[in-house]
Amino acid sequence: MPKFRKIIFDWFGKSNYFVTLSYSHTCYTFILEVNIISDTVTKPSKQMLDFMLSAEVGDDVFAEDPTVNALESRLSKMFGMDSALFCPSGTMTNQIAIKVHTKSLDEMICDIDSHVYQAESSGFAFHSGISVNLIHGINGKINAEQISASLRPGFDWQPLSKLVVLENTTNKGGGSYYTLDEISSVYKLTRDKGLKLHIDGARIFNALIETNEPSEKIGLLCDSISVCFSKGLGAPVGSILIGDKTFIREARRFRKVMGGGMRQSGILAAACLYALNHHIPDLKIDNTRAKELGTILKSKHFVKQIKPVYTNIIIFILADHINTIDFLNNLKSKGILASEFGHQTIRFVMHRDITPDQFDFLIKIIESL
Ligand SMILES: *Cc1c(COP(=O)(O)O)cnc(C)c1O
Repeated sequence: MPKFRKIIFDWFGKSNYFVTLSYSHTCYTFILEVNIISDTVTKPSKQMLDFMLSAEVGDDVFAEDPTVNALESRLSKMFGMDSALFCPSGTMTNQIAIKVHTKSLDEMICDIDSHVYQAESSGFAFHSGISVNLIHGINGKINAEQISASLRPGFDWQPLSKLVVLENTTNKGGGSYYTLDEISSVYKLTRDKGLKLHIDGARIFNALIETNEPSEKIGLLCDSISVCFSKGLGAPVGSILIGDKTFIREARRFRKVMGGGMRQSGILAAACLYALNHHIPDLKIDNTRAKELGTILKSKHFVKQIKPVYTNIIIFILADHINTIDFLNNLKSKGILASEFGHQTIRFVMHRDITPDQFDFLIKIIESL
């Protein structure tokens, strides 16, 4: 099949088609589609599904699912902390962390583009009754100096600064990441000022594969960290929240009240374990592909500005005369599915379900625009 696809691709390389071949009743249709909307579009492989089916399970609300327990203990060790909690989504792990670290009338400090502010339906206000103190960082990253300058002196009429959230890698910031040194300087400030530090590490492994820094050290430099398995790691569902024992005991209560207590969730945890065992090195391919595509985009007439490409995310602003919807429809007509990411802004995301043929095709299409 791959060979056949390649022949079809070479034939029609200049036009709009093909990488998957589908059969419907009496006619064959060829559609080559490359979905670069997000790294969440990946689907579980046959091997991952087999592994999920073979998972030993129990009732995780009673903490008796051996596969969930194995995943939690693996991740807490991996990040040098005591405990962990498996949850359905990264939004839930972030929201639980915010809830445990703050009380109403507090505030969290984060970058203006951060997921906890932009993409979690204002859950910080809804669940925790807190305010937000936004920093205009650089490519989604904030530093100790900026945080220090944003702290409230503690007057009655102000919210209390309580929590700092760092996003690693950044999403709207274009996949930029923090080194351990950078995290460390923020951590020191939070210790001096009595603040908590949460790391939204939805794509932390895309960062670690670039820096080659040890994951265990991160646990020494924050109060909690959340990690997603449903992004580049390719699991269908699942995120984990990591912290110390007291924090996780409290987090379990909030997971329950948010409706995130699952029963035989070992089936899902197995997908995450499979991803950890097999998919981490491939994130390097995603990052490398993104850089290659970024270099091509940089010289294209339709690109006004492009954020530096650090990991698997590419964000660019279209030239003023280009209409975003027309641009996306044109891409779609050529088989490339992408999406708008703010005014005149496009995001492309590399992920493990893009085959080598699809990547070649994608490059050809972008070069031809
Ligand atoms: C995707 C993402 C999350 C979590 O999203 P869910 O879809 O709820 O799993 C959190 N933070 C960042 C930076 C993300 O990109």
